[in-house]
Amino acid sequence: MGVPCPSCGRSYDVSLFSFGRTIWCRCGSRVGLEARLAAPAASAEKRFIADAMLGRLARWLRLLGFDCAYESGIPDEELIRRGVEEGRTILSRDRRLPEEWRVEGIYLVRSEGFREQLAEVVRHFGLSRELRILTRCSECNRRLAGVSAAQVASRVPARVLETRHEFRECPRCRRVYWQGSHTERIRRVVERLLPFSDPGN
Ligand SMILES: [Zn+2]
Ligand SMILES: [Zn+2]
Repeated sequence: MGVPCPSCGRSYDVSLFSFGRTIWCRCGSRVGLEARLAAPAASAEKRFIADAMLGRLARWLRLLGFDCAYESGIPDEELIRRGVEEGRTILSRDRRLPEEWRVEGIYLVRSEGFREQLAEVVRHFGLSRELRILTRCSECNRRLAGVSAAQVASRVPARVLETRHEFRECPRCRRVYWQGSHTERIRRVVERLLPFSDPGN
């Protein structure tokens, strides 16, 4: 099956257009399939994948409890494929992306700094009532699991063990999280960015 260029009619093989990819025709027009690929129906939980330029934003979304996939240096094709297959909204700073890929669910982040980017994304997607600080690993994006003090005793400073009794652990990287100075810092950033939100637990 051929896909014709809308300007000159030259035909291209359909396999060139997987995941909504578009290409330049030799005549200078852009060629792609008409129908935009729809990402799978929105699940109860909003999920994201961030492009290579948005690593800091991805970590902060995770700190607020949101599922945000990220790999440094991910090629565009892989970014789009994961977004479509896993039903993730694609967060990008690359204005060419929505031209090169006819895919629903690409959101172009306009802000420069990560704090402003975070505020922009939380506002745009109405996430402020779903913040769950300290529920997801900022490095791996995995959900944290509750663990006892005894299980993490060798990996937590003694003074923390004396004053804290609730710990959570990343099942992948084994990083340990607890309420403390780190979560206070997150809370302060959130309160400054989102003055009308309730940072939750
Ligand atoms: Zn053409
Ligand atoms: Zn982890």
